[in-house]
Amino acid sequence: KGMLDGKSALITGAASGIGRAAALAFAREGAWVAAADLTLEGAQRTVAAIEAQGGEAVAIAVDVTDDAAVKAMVAAAVAAFGGLDCAFNNAGIAPYQLNSAGVPVADMEEPAWARMLDVNLTGVWRCLRHEVAQMRTQGGGAIVNTASIMGLVAGPGAAAYVVSKHGVIGLTKAAALDHAGEGIRVNAVCPGYIETPMTEDTMRRRGERIIGRTALGRMGKPEEIAEAVVWMCSDRASFVTGSAWTVDGGYTAL
Ligand code: NAD
Repeated sequence: KGMLDGKSALITGAASGIGRAAALAFAREGAWVAAADLTLEGAQRTVAAIEAQGGEAVAIAVDVTDDAAVKAMVAAAVAAFGGLDCAFNNAGIAPYQLNSAGVPVADMEEPAWARMLDVNLTGVWRCLRHEVAQMRTQGGGAIVNTASIMGLVAGPGAAAYVVSKHGVIGLTKAAALDHAGEGIRVNAVCPGYIETPMTEDTMRRRGERIIGRTALGRMGKPEEIAEAVVWMCSDRASFVTGSAWTVDGGYTAL
């Protein structure tokens, strides 16, 4: 028996890294999965992997900076599975993707700053509001947002990213308070350094230092984040809302 038997789940950023691992884990735990990402092809690769392990999934193309597209994404998931029980708002970008890695706060250009917040913070809010609109009609649901250890501490030369992830934790707490009465739980996961395409650049530049200060002495695997997300979305987490769960191998314990 799976932890998410009979539940439907929507996951953004599902083509790669943590989102893909979560999509596979949700399906293994019995959920129907709507896998959303920027390109349909990317989302379809995850759907194919889910089908190969005997699960059921649909692929959806979405850009989380486009509110109409986000609304259509939620509608597509509901159309496929008849409702929406769980959502994992995970799509995000890293500083190097905006050529802003290593740029000090005062030297950041406004377009890179604005773009980072638009994808990583406002993108989560857009997803959340349309998911809540659906979940409140069903009497409840569970939402997990991907923050980061950069939502708890700061890293050098990553100001906009740090701010976006601190914002995700604030949004998570605010939404948990505002929608608890509707049976909707909202939590965040704060991954440390995880082996995905997003961290390749950082690990090349300062991987040794990062692993050196991680208690477990290694990077995490996307599947190790998925474990926490599955649990927070499951009924076993029935008293957990407004929390930000750190899964970082002890990085922030130092
Ligand atoms: P990744 O680059 O492997 O995957 C991110 C996915 O998000 C990609 O498939 C990408 O296409 C998608 N995406 C980006 N912009 C989008 C948009 N506008 N609309 C829809 N989809 C979009 O990275 P990952 O490491 O799996 O990161 C997933 C999440 O985890 C991100 O929010 C990231 O900030 C966070 N995170 C990652 C780490 C890490 O160490 N890898 C640590 C902490 C937090």
